[in-house]
Amino acid sequence: MKRKTREQKAIESYIDSNGSRCVYCKSKNIEGGDTEFDGSKIFQNCRCNACDKEWTETYSLTGVNLEEPIPEPPNSIRFIKSLRKGKTNEDTVNTLAKEK
Ligand SMILES: [Zn+2]
Repeated sequence: MKRKTREQKAIESYIDSNGSRCVYCKSKNIEGGDTEFDGSKIFQNCRCNACDKEWTETYSLTGVNLEEPIPEPPNSIRFIKSLRKGKTNEDTVNTLAKEK
C-alpha cells in the first residue's frame, strides 16, 4: 500500500475539521470566498488570514431533500406496468376496481 503524502494527510484532517482549520497552519482564522458551480460540483475559494495561503474547497452532490413526497403514479400508468409484468387484463381491472 502506498503511503499517504503530506498533502493527502493535510486534506483529510481539513475535511475532518469540516473545513474549520487552515490546511497549511491549522489556524481557525480562515474565511470562505466566492463559490462557483460546475455541473454537480461546487468550488469555494478559501483563504487563511494567519499564513496568507489560499486553497479551493470542492463540494459534490451527495443527496436531495424533497419539498414534497413523490406522488403515486396514476392508475393508468399502474395499469400499463401491470400489463408489462404479464398480468391479464381482467386481473388488473379487478385490482383497480377494488382500489376505488
Ligand atoms: Zn494558515
